[in-house]
Amino acid sequence: MAHIIEEAKSGRAGCRTCRKPIAKGELRFGEEAENQFAEGGETSYRWHHMACAATSKSAELRATINAHTGPSIPAELMADLERLMAEADAKKPPPFPHADKAPSGRAKCQGCGETIAKGELRVVIERDIERGMTVTKGAGYLHPKCAAAYVEEHGGTHAALTEGLHANTRGLTDQELDLLFSEV
Ligand SMILES: [Zn+2]
Ligand SMILES: [Zn+2]
Repeated sequence: MAHIIEEAKSGRAGCRTCRKPIAKGELRFGEEAENQFAEGGETSYRWHHMACAATSKSAELRATINAHTGPSIPAELMADLERLMAEADAKKPPPFPHADKAPSGRAKCQGCGETIAKGELRVVIERDIERGMTVTKGAGYLHPKCAAAYVEEHGGTHAALTEGLHANTRGLTDQELDLLFSEV
């Protein structure tokens, strides 16, 4: 997908994030949309104000800025965008697998079936959740000591698990991380 940043050619397009119009000449972010009806490679875009994209499409906007060769982005706007993208990223859950502390005592371990106690370290992985006829991706939870066996049973490797946990885990203290990796 090639998203773009350009100056709005007209004032007609509305922002897909806030629904307000984007002024002619204002920089805007175009999210490339797959148009199943267009033939001959015609591309359509969903437009966003730059600041709106920083919040609603932070990863896509960052990648597009990094590859951007069009009209220059004023330093002041860029500073605002950086701040908004960082705020948006902080609100997103980290990618799988990661570890955190169970916010409640409700989740059951996918490995041993026992409840994971509130405040206990847990490993969070992506798993398939069957709902009737459909399968969706969702979070699965594991005791650290149950994680490696479960992941290996499902086609993963211990090395990839620990590597992912190192890369994706946020907000744990050094002691908690030591405990985590002594058990995983
Ligand atoms: Zn907007
Ligand atoms: Zn367990």
